[in-house]
Amino acid sequence: MLVGEKLAIVCERLLERYGVPDRPTGSPLEVLVRTVLSQNTNDRNRDRAYEALRRRFPRWEMLLAAPEEEIARCLRPGGLNHQKARRLKEIVKRVWRRWGQGEMEGICKLGRREALSFLLDLPGVGPKTAYCVLAFGCDVDLFPVDTHILRIAKRLGLLDERVTAEEAHRIFAPLVPPGRARDLHLLLIRYGREVCRARGPLCHRCLFPELCLYGPRDG
Ligand code: SF4
Repeated sequence: MLVGEKLAIVCERLLERYGVPDRPTGSPLEVLVRTVLSQNTNDRNRDRAYEALRRRFPRWEMLLAAPEEEIARCLRPGGLNHQKARRLKEIVKRVWRRWGQGEMEGICKLGRREALSFLLDLPGVGPKTAYCVLAFGCDVDLFPVDTHILRIAKRLGLLDERVTAEEAHRIFAPLVPPGRARDLHLLLIRYGREVCRARGPLCHRCLFPELCLYGPRDG
């Protein structure tokens, strides 16, 4: 079976099991900041850090004038707060330089290649974050690949073991069922947290046992 056909089966079964997921929304800059803050932490701590940041700096330009230490204090719940503070400040500075004040909406009007090139040049921004910004901040049908998705894809034989997350974005782009890229992204993350976990996957609940090269096994 071809990878595209397997992906279509995976998508169909996940939709059947969980329904269409709610897509996170926000301006491109909000999505960018949230995604940077989500690195190395869980959703709850990311949200706590984001809320603390916006309470202290309700306008992005306030962040430009603030000492890094003060930004880092807000980001404490999400960990790596000094590194994230440094990156955020630089990101907002570059966004400001390119688009002036606002929420970086201009990026949605760029061609995909130019938009990705701007985002990937920002500190701490890799393909997953860049794709998330366009997918959820600009409403583009794109498939960001995170660690859950990479792991499941390898277990299901959709990707070779040696493929990196970066390469996976290019490989999957033409194969994901059209119009379903964001849903598949969200559903696979949920599936990776609840069932096909990194350690101790719950294989008795697997939706695709016949496709798996790794299991089935139970943790
Ligand atoms: S059988 Fe287990 S390891 Fe394989 S895809 Fe299903 S949950 Fe994941």
